[in-house]
Amino acid sequence: MTPGFWSPRIAALEPYVPGEQPRIANLVKLNTNENPYPPSPSAIDAIQRAAEAGLELYPDPESTLLRDAIAARHGLERSQVFAGNGSDEVLAHAFFAFFQQDAPLLIPDVTYSFYRVYAQLYGIACELQPVDQALRIDAEALAARARAGRRGGIVVANPNAPTGIGLPLAQIEELLAACPDRVVLVDEAYVDFGGQSALPLIARHPNLLVVQTLSKSRSLAGLRVGFACGQSPLIDALQRVKNSFNSYPIDRLASAGAVAALEDEAWFAKTRDAVIDTREGLALQLEDLGFEVLPSQANFLFVRHPGHDAAALAAALRSRAVLVRHFAQPRIAQYLRISVGTRDQCGALVDALGDILSAI
Ligand code: PMP
Repeated sequence: MTPGFWSPRIAALEPYVPGEQPRIANLVKLNTNENPYPPSPSAIDAIQRAAEAGLELYPDPESTLLRDAIAARHGLERSQVFAGNGSDEVLAHAFFAFFQQDAPLLIPDVTYSFYRVYAQLYGIACELQPVDQALRIDAEALAARARAGRRGGIVVANPNAPTGIGLPLAQIEELLAACPDRVVLVDEAYVDFGGQSALPLIARHPNLLVVQTLSKSRSLAGLRVGFACGQSPLIDALQRVKNSFNSYPIDRLASAGAVAALEDEAWFAKTRDAVIDTREGLALQLEDLGFEVLPSQANFLFVRHPGHDAAALAAALRSRAVLVRHFAQPRIAQYLRISVGTRDQCGALVDALGDILSAI
């Protein structure tokens, strides 16, 4: 029943459903691609110090220190960086700013499901380009479709979600060349775990917007900091949207913690390497259990078992307090997405799967 006060557009929305965050004791939580390691201790110190001074004042609406830290790390200017309350907010602003065009936005059919929610929210038409049989983004087909004419822009996640498969930079360049008059948005939420970033292409491509997050490789999902990089006219557009929506998306604690985390390169490298190493070991163990494992450049694995229903496996794991993500969606309903946890968490997952598979 639709409450009578809702506008027609809101009544028609199908909002994104995030992975659950239950409060279950001793849960092995491998369902929302969080980093299993804590953030840099210097980030926690910085947040504590920020909490002790100045919370009665608004934060800097321009997020100057944070944008400078991001720019410094990536060899960009502050004017080429936009910061938002998680990359989901950055993506939402980018959809609003760039894709409300007279032609449809092109996205892969298997990708981060929030893209279609933003499109629906803003009334943006989408055309879905099927991923290939191996669930790889077909960049050539996307580029050909864009070259063929009516295009409102392109969005790809690289590495893609929920598959974890990365696209080589040459293929991103092909998309940029095929869509010169519209924005090509590359969502690099997982790029630090082995993908190739498109950030070095910004200088040559005025239509490129790269979006990243501190939620995954910087272990700051709870702080909500994401950013976009591109040539300054694109960043100006995002600032216009932000300043028409919420002037202060980055609060004082978030800014302090994010800057400190970005400056702690050693912690970043250590935790990232541990995740990558655990991922490779987990992939082999899952293959030993009979799973097909897609090649992942992210902090999760996308797997299917030829002999077992994915939803049933997810439910059996849940009953053993192990959470993984199952998407009841076309083409991927027989897959499970498993976030890479600590070695102990992954061991518990493998043990639980071993029990389940031998019992059925
Ligand atoms: N992009 C992709 C592909 C994701 O999987 C996620 C995490 N759900 C996000 C963006 C958003 O991450 P955050 O808002 O935490 O930065």
